Parts: sequence; C-alpha cells; structure tokens
Amino acid sequence: TVGVVLFTRDLRVHDNPALWHAVREHEQVLPMFVLDDDIRTGGFNRPNRATFLADCLRDLDGSLRSRGARLVVRRGDVVAETARLAEQVSARAVHVAGDVSRYAQRRERHLAQALTCELVVHEDALFAVPPGRIRPSGGGAHMSVFSAYYRRWLVESRRAPLPAPRVVALPKGSPAGLLPSARSICPGPTAPRLPPGGESAGRSRLARWLRTDAGRYDEVHDDLAADATSRLSPYLHFGCLSPVDVLARSGTTAGFARQLAWRDFHAQVLAARSDASTRDLRPREDRWRSAPAEFIAWQQGRTGIPVVDAGMRQLAEEGWLHNRARLLVAHFLTKTLYLDWRLGAAHFADQLVDGDVANNSLNWQWVAGTGTDSRYNRIYNIDAQARRYDPDGAYVRRHVPELSEIPGAAVHEPWLLPTRRRAALDYPDPIVDVAEGNARFLRARGRR
Ligand code: FAD
Repeated sequence: TVGVVLFTRDLRVHDNPALWHAVREHEQVLPMFVLDDDIRTGGFNRPNRATFLADCLRDLDGSLRSRGARLVVRRGDVVAETARLAEQVSARAVHVAGDVSRYAQRRERHLAQALTCELVVHEDALFAVPPGRIRPSGGGAHMSVFSAYYRRWLVESRRAPLPAPRVVALPKGSPAGLLPSARSICPGPTAPRLPPGGESAGRSRLARWLRTDAGRYDEVHDDLAADATSRLSPYLHFGCLSPVDVLARSGTTAGFARQLAWRDFHAQVLAARSDASTRDLRPREDRWRSAPAEFIAWQQGRTGIPVVDAGMRQLAEEGWLHNRARLLVAHFLTKTLYLDWRLGAAHFADQLVDGDVANNSLNWQWVAGTGTDSRYNRIYNIDAQARRYDPDGAYVRRHVPELSEIPGAAVHEPWLLPTRRRAALDYPDPIVDVAEGNARFLRARGRR
C-alpha cells in the first residue's frame, strides 16, 4: 500500500512518528509539504521564519533523498492539495502530526472530511507529553497550575525516541515538487544574524550545547551575558528536533527539562482555549494605555532603560531573545508602561524566529498577569534584575553600542554619569519614571 506523510512543523526524519509509522505500515511513502495559502497570506508569515523554514525544507529534502525519496512541495490550499496528491497515488492513509492552534485543529477537521482515505493523526509528534494526556483531577479542560502539571509531566514524559527510517520508498510516478526560496514564502528584510534552519543544523546545535553549556544550565541559564541556554527554540518550533529526543539526550539537567515542560504546558492550554492568542485568559478589567510614541521607543530599543533596550536590539539583530530579556522587556511594556500585551506579542510574532502562537501568547499573558500566573500583579525591580542577571553589564554593552564605553555595572544607570559625559552619549533619557510607572499599574489593578 501507499501512505502519504503530510509534514507540517515536524520537519525532521529522526523521532518523527508520522514518518516512522508510515514507513512501517506502507510499502511506499510519499512525503509532502504544502505552503498553505492561509498561512502564506496571514499575518504570521514573516521573513525571519520564512527564511528559517526554507532552510528546513531544503534540509528535509536532502535527508529524504539520501533515503531514496524526496519532499514534494505544493502551494495552495493544504486540504485540497493533500486530498489531490493522496488520490493521485491511491493512498491508503495520510499521516500527520497532531497540533494545537485553532488553524491546525481546523486543518485536521477539514482533512478528515475531504480525504477519501484514512487520516492518521500522531498526537505525540510535537510534544514530550501531548495535550490532553494530563487532565485536571477536579475536571476542567486544561491544567492551570504549572507546578502541579510539572509533577505529572515528569512521570508521563518517558517515551523512547524513534530512529530515522533507513529507506523511504517513493511510489512510482510521484510528482516533482520544487523547493521554495525564502523570498517566495515571504519577501522582506530579515534579521542580520539569524540562525540556520533545518534538522542538521538543529542536531549540530544540540550536540554542541550538550558538550559545552548543558551541564551548567541550572547555574547560568538566567545569566544574560553568558548566553548559555540551548537556543534550540526555533528548532523545536519547526520540529527540526523532537522534544522527546532532546529530553532523552539532555539527561539529568533538571532545570532544562522544566523549561521543556513549560512548552507542553502552554500547548495544552492553547489546545483547550484557542482564543488565548487574542483574549485574556483571566480578564483583569485592564484599561491599557494608548501611547504610540512609547510603544515605538520600546520596539526600537530607545526607552533609555539599558537592559530593556539591549533586549529589543538583540531581537532585531538575531530574531531571537534570551528568556530573561523576554521577561524584562515584556514586563516593562505591560506593567511599567501599562500597554496592552497584544501589542508586544504582535511585535514578537513579527520578529521571532521561534515565534509560536502558544508560547508567545501565553508567556505574554503570564507576564501581563492575565494568564495562569497566580501572582498576577508581580512587579520586577528592573535595576535589581539588571544587576543580578547582567552583573558586569556585558550584555548591555554587547547590544547597545552607544553605551559600550561605560565599564562595569555603571552601564545600567547612564543617568548617574557626570553631566558632560552623559550629554556626550547618543542615548535617550528614560521615557518613564520606572517606579511611577509600576505604581500606576498597581493602582490600575486596584492595589495600592
Ligand atoms: P532554553 O532555556 O534552552 O529552554 C529549552 C526549551 O524549552 C526552549 O527551546 C523552549 O522550547 C522551551 N522553553 C523554555 N522556556 C519556555 C517558556 N517560558 N515557555 C515555553 N517554552 C519554553 N518561546 C518560544 O519558543 N516561542 C515564542 O514565541 C516565545 N515567546 C515568548 C514571549 C515571552 C514574553 C516570554 C517571556 C517567553 C517566550 N518564549 C517563547 C519562551 C522562552 O523565552 C524561549 O523558549 C527561550 O528563551 C528560548 O531559548 P532557548 O531555546 O535557549 O531556551
């Protein structure tokens, strides 16, 4: 028989349940990918991720070719194109990874209706623990408290990784499918220092990180200048790496497993609450301010708060941002400036190479206090955070060249420099009094 594998964001051959089962269950397998019009013309298709995706498809095609097959790429409507190809090769089944966004759930429903063959959904392809496996004991659609979720996640997340199939036999007469260029997916300027996409690049990155920084993750993952986190998020987002594989290979690094659990935690929230990408999970009756000039200063990394500006500049340069910096810039936007988290999430989605509906929206909601965090009025002291996580100021100097001559931690407070030295810097004064901004937020939330 013939099986079709519809690749979506599981762009790999190792530990890929859809590919593995298709190869085991059918004599011949057609691997396909559709550049879906709905995604291509929707707001989420942005140049940084398009560039990464083009790399992923090229790399996947190479891996399939070395196993005797190739990737057939189509453009158009994902459901219609899949149904057409499945019929053309008289497929017995189409295999696809289960996913959580509203878009992916609709795709799955429509595929089930349109196909004349079976649709096999592999729920364990994208997450170490698939959404729905861990359910609240008292009822409810999803878990809301991370610590309770994590205890059960540790028990559930023990599937053994699947090897890559050695041979993938294409059905005779399979069509060719031209690989798309990044520009044809989404034209436009990209961040100058984007990471390379694809499973091969992801596996090299994982191997290097395991050799170098993985062993000290728990001590240094919050250190901004050390830059010692795995940087695997874009590879996990596009499925160049499987979380099951990453978890198995990272062994005993407890703090790291916990971060991977956050990924699954957010996925199970979004699976149950598809509106969480735009609506407050827990509305707090916020009357977000409107301050376009402050928002632009934040986007451009010109707020006058060095650690915030360093984060926003890193995002523009790399299409990626350290988690601690994400927390600080998001806190600054939503609490200190009291601007709507959706504005920040949209800017992140525009730029991030790992931009992901679940992780982006739900982390923004967590920081803004409209999500699952029980301490929803939590306030960070930005000066203390900067001194704690960038004690020598190296992170700020790396990303804010105007401040590169200021030594040590003094770089976090340029306003304390002697007047003449301060005036010589091409660097703005703070756009807000941070303490007043935070107090305004607490007043708005009804706490003095
Ligand atoms: P590591 O520290 O090495 O962690 C390993 C993996 O765990 C990551 O690759 C990621 O897949 C997962 N992970 C880590 N932290 C989180 C978290 N808080 N939530 C969910 N998964 C996590 N992550 C995205 O993948 N896409 C996003 O769009 C995204 N937007 C975010 C927006 C905000 C406001 C915040 C505060 C965080 C966001 N994150 C997002 C989560 C986190 O910042 C990144 O996953 C992490 O910085 C990626 O770097 P890393 O791979 O080196 O992480």
